[in-house]
Amino acid sequence: MIFQKNGKSYTVCTVGAPVLREIAAPVAVIDDSVRQLASEMIGAMHYFNGIGLAAPQYGKSLRLVVIDVPGGNESGSPGEAMLLPRMPLTLINPEIVFASGDCDEKDEGCLSVPGLYAPVCRPSRVVLRSQLLDGEFIEIECGGLLGRCIQHELDHLDGKLFIDRLSPKNAREVRGDVDRLTRIGQTKNFRRNK
Ligand code: ZN
Repeated sequence: MIFQKNGKSYTVCTVGAPVLREIAAPVAVIDDSVRQLASEMIGAMHYFNGIGLAAPQYGKSLRLVVIDVPGGNESGSPGEAMLLPRMPLTLINPEIVFASGDCDEKDEGCLSVPGLYAPVCRPSRVVLRSQLLDGEFIEIECGGLLGRCIQHELDHLDGKLFIDRLSPKNAREVRGDVDRLTRIGQTKNFRRNK
């Protein structure tokens, strides 16, 4: 069944889809097609109740990410103060130019790995360098859920999924679920439609 909102259906690629394993290409120029893609991806992210979506998850191997991170539990980083009021936000050719050396472990999930949640260890703070949809360049330190979301989404641009970052023990525990999701995805061409 295809669910529609405003006459529109949304599709997200799921684990097993080759596009999720590619190194995405930089966005060359921010034109109408890029703005249209960002707007559709924000629609899909909201419709699937995600807080972030990377273009490869939408079937486009491009270095573009949309995020809509909720406020209310900030870590006090300057990036949260600057960016949370501007959600939803589109990041063009985003990069992490610095990561703190610590390990902060929290559960993560992913629209491309439906229904699976597992703890992932990541630096608690990163410095994000990115262009925004209006052409503005930013470089700012991001922590808390925003910092984690940015790291998760940027991984997608390099063909990485959060299930690649689990401890050996957790990876063993979810292996059966990942195999099952991959098999289910195969019959649906690795796509979830809504
Ligand atoms: Zn994801």
